[in-house]
Amino acid sequence: MSNVPEMFGSLVFNDTVMKERLPKATYKALRETRERGKALDPKVADVVANTMKEWALEKGATHFTHWFQPMTGITAEKHDSFITPVDGEKVIMEFSGKELIKGEPDASSFPSGGLRATFEARGYTAWDPTSDAFIKGNSLCIPTAFCSYGGEALDKKTPLLRSMDAISKQALRILKLFGNTKAKRVITTVGPEQEYFLIDKAMYGQRKDLVYTGRTLFGAKPPKGQEMEDHYFGVIKPRVASFMQDLNKELWKLGILAKTEHNEVAPSQHELAPIFATSNVATDHNQLVMEIMKKVATKHGLTCLLHEKPFDGINGSGKHNNWSLSTDAGENLLEPGESPSQNAQFLLFLAAVIKAVDEHQDLLRISVASAGNDHRLGANEAPPAIISVFLGDELTDVLASIESGKPCVQKDRVFMEIGSDILPRFPKDTTDRNRTSPFAFTGNKFEFRSVGSTASLACPNMMLNTIVADELSQFADILENAKDFKGALNKIVKDTIRDHKRIIFNGNNYAPEWVEEAKKRGLLNLRSTVDAMPNYITGENVALFKKHGVLSKTEVYARYDIELENYYKQIHIEALTMLDMIKKDILPAAASYMKELGETAAQKKQLGIGAGFEEDLLKKIAGHSDKLYAEMEKLESDVDNAPQSGDTLEIAKYYRSTVFAQMAETRKPADEIESLVGSKYWPYPTYGELLFSVV
Ligand code: ADP
Ligand code: MG
Repeated sequence: MSNVPEMFGSLVFNDTVMKERLPKATYKALRETRERGKALDPKVADVVANTMKEWALEKGATHFTHWFQPMTGITAEKHDSFITPVDGEKVIMEFSGKELIKGEPDASSFPSGGLRATFEARGYTAWDPTSDAFIKGNSLCIPTAFCSYGGEALDKKTPLLRSMDAISKQALRILKLFGNTKAKRVITTVGPEQEYFLIDKAMYGQRKDLVYTGRTLFGAKPPKGQEMEDHYFGVIKPRVASFMQDLNKELWKLGILAKTEHNEVAPSQHELAPIFATSNVATDHNQLVMEIMKKVATKHGLTCLLHEKPFDGINGSGKHNNWSLSTDAGENLLEPGESPSQNAQFLLFLAAVIKAVDEHQDLLRISVASAGNDHRLGANEAPPAIISVFLGDELTDVLASIESGKPCVQKDRVFMEIGSDILPRFPKDTTDRNRTSPFAFTGNKFEFRSVGSTASLACPNMMLNTIVADELSQFADILENAKDFKGALNKIVKDTIRDHKRIIFNGNNYAPEWVEEAKKRGLLNLRSTVDAMPNYITGENVALFKKHGVLSKTEVYARYDIELENYYKQIHIEALTMLDMIKKDILPAAASYMKELGETAAQKKQLGIGAGFEEDLLKKIAGHSDKLYAEMEKLESDVDNAPQSGDTLEIAKYYRSTVFAQMAETRKPADEIESLVGSKYWPYPTYGELLFSVV
């Protein structure tokens, strides 16, 4: 731990290493590719590959892998060794430019939503030179995109990269209108705050529900939950501290800027936030963070739970997606500027985001939809399923005065007209000013808080980039043709506020009144994945993705199918796990305890003591057990009756309204039994044990 600067990035083939090791011309060519997306000459690729291999061998690597992010939401890798036979008996270590640039994994078992069936059977991986290669275990990992032979994206990353190009193109048009001709690229930046639980590994192993589904399907309320709020930002326990220290070390070696860590609201819940990076790099890094969290936890006898809702009645986990736009010179475009002109530019970008969120509430909701996250959104702990924007009172006042044309006085400053005044500084939302908003402006960035803790960052950011790109393109179309630039600019901002202010809400998003109010405003309330998903394939949305070259119609439909399939498969596994636990463990535990109670009651009667508490308790447990048995039978038949094929939306709807609903009914008597049965009979570690045992 002694030398962090030396350790930092030591397992990454980054710019410094490239500069040091590559011939000058090769380095320059590669840099052009990395910064401007220029195609790489195959000869140059050979040199890069060889240098990468030499570097990797020095670090102890023997294999290389194309590392990619299929639609399963986790990363995939297939390892090939560098060895190439020579002279019959010997081997040398080789790695060619061809192998670096393109891979052909046998991809037939990754979800494709029918894409490969209709086009080509195989997929290929293509190097993403903008994300650095790194060493994991004994492998050189090369970040790649994963496509079908027809070029359709089969992964999460390709559309993200396309959306970054789209927003860059449109934002540059706007910047040019404000006189910025130097900027060559506008990048989107992301800093994700990752929440997770740490529990004891041995206890985890005793819970089939956690092992198979990542969340508890049963569990009576513990005597203490999170009501004392004594865990949030509390002292970090020694075992957790030692885990965090190890985790940081591993992340730093991979060049991941792990920065802050603290306890979260729920017992055993924690958070890690890195310093922000370019969207695709942040996405890759976050996948690594999740993977390494799990690995390091295991070493410490712990298990890291990334599920959105591991425990009923206890806060779930999210991944706050801090998002902003910046020029290649580092100018943050969501930072109110120092001059009137910069402020006019800021207000235009702000207007684009507000309009985008209002017009595309459905896409943002879709981008965070999953079986796991459905537990979170809408419960009083996470942003609701209703999408709205928090701006804070100061900025909201400024916008109101622009709309009305009446001056707004703030902190001795008068704000009247765009492009002629300097905005007041807006306080950053560093405190808990508003933790309930799904989409909050926090001084110089937006924080999209609805993202689930297991989710890849790729989809939410692909959506954000695309919808904002579209608004920017509409604004640019008007402004490029305007005779009176300032007048047109004023009108755009004014009209946008007038037409889209319904999306701005600075109050408490958890309050039931907000649901009513949002309804009055005509905002969408897409409560579950099956409510949200149909909006993915509307003509309007298909056209939007096509316009910006982010997703083709086929790709949109494929994604829609895959997400729905993931959704009902997840619930299917949960239902089967429930049935297994009831039959194999819970009913037998109840029966054993009832047997003991019955025998004692009978003995007492024989001795003439009269029936005591045993009989009463036995009756209660018997009542709940019979109920459990009946609910279990119903659940089993609901699962058996599930449609096996056909429309994915219909299957998903069935799982939501029938199987998932019946799971909730089935859980109730089981939790009652748990609260009555003696500890030594209960087959699983309890909520109390799971949540409070790591010290
Ligand atoms: P808070 O703790 O109040 O949420 P922070 O300033 O600590 O605020 O930011 C949280 C996350 O936001 C961090 O990951 C940080 O790197 C990230 N962040 C800060 N500025 C930006 C930006 N311009 N673009 C994207 N993410 C950012
Ligand atoms: Mg935050």
